[in-house]
Amino acid sequence: MGTWRVGEGDLLRTQKEVEILKYGLQNGINVIDTAEMYGEGKAETVVGRAIKNFDRDSFQLISKFYPYHATPKLIKDSLEKSLKRLNTDYLDVYLLHWRGDTPLAETVQGLEAVKKEGLIKSWGVSNFSTSDLEELASVPDGENCQVNQDLYNLTSRGVEYSILPYQKKHNIDFMGYSPFGSDGNEYLNLKDEVGEVAAQKHISIFELLLAWVIRNNNVLSIPKTSSVDHFAMNLHAADIEFTPDELELLDKIYPKPTEETPLDTI
Ligand code: NDP
Repeated sequence: MGTWRVGEGDLLRTQKEVEILKYGLQNGINVIDTAEMYGEGKAETVVGRAIKNFDRDSFQLISKFYPYHATPKLIKDSLEKSLKRLNTDYLDVYLLHWRGDTPLAETVQGLEAVKKEGLIKSWGVSNFSTSDLEELASVPDGENCQVNQDLYNLTSRGVEYSILPYQKKHNIDFMGYSPFGSDGNEYLNLKDEVGEVAAQKHISIFELLLAWVIRNNNVLSIPKTSSVDHFAMNLHAADIEFTPDELELLDKIYPKPTEETPLDTI
């Protein structure tokens, strides 16, 4: 479950967000993605309230630090604050949210140090292109990167060209963010034909979008919802399969990339 824009509303909305995260954990979700940036810590606080009574080993917690907190000292400061808000003593994965000015070697050094202390189990990056990943692999311990998290949905397929193959080759997990194009579907502006495919399958467009992202079993998707009905729909997407004809049709509507393109981000 994603948590961008969580914790930014009134008391009632926040309570609902705590409940939906709990509901998710009770119903098979085992990854929560958050960041110090989301509501400047408010999303982490909501997650901390939600996970309180769950067995910490039964799910994975991922958070991210700002690129301007990417030196060894600031990584540790940020991490300690995140852990406090999250009511936990470790993160499963800690991500550099996007690339900034700090040399990657310094950031990796800081991440390896907090890993040694047991404050994180592993680390990764976000919004990295293939060339960024190659550069990362060239610095000391850079090959310990476990995860890269990039934008991935039906209308934004650039990562299929070289990022997904690179990550597969180098055993770096791929997390795809914004499967619905982010809040309120406003970025996707989907073509009508996608709705026709969904209608023929008797599923919603949201189910189609999510099932499509995870169709090859090589992507961890982190949809965000604050609605139980939407959550149930999203969970159902894990059971939806596409026929080769349906996939071909979707490829015609939103073609696969045939060349390297600049990395899409939100
Ligand atoms: P999503 O693509 O997950 O879309 C969220 C929107 O879709 C919300 O408005 C939600 O509304 C709606 N929605 C969810 N499920 C349904 C459904 N079944 N039917 C109808 N509407 C639905 O957007 P995000 O940008 O939040 O991306 C997911 C997560 O990825 C983030 O929360 C964050 O954790 C991560 N992320 C990481 C980034 C990075 O730079 N690393 C950048 C952006 C996101 P409702 O709440 O009402 O269900």
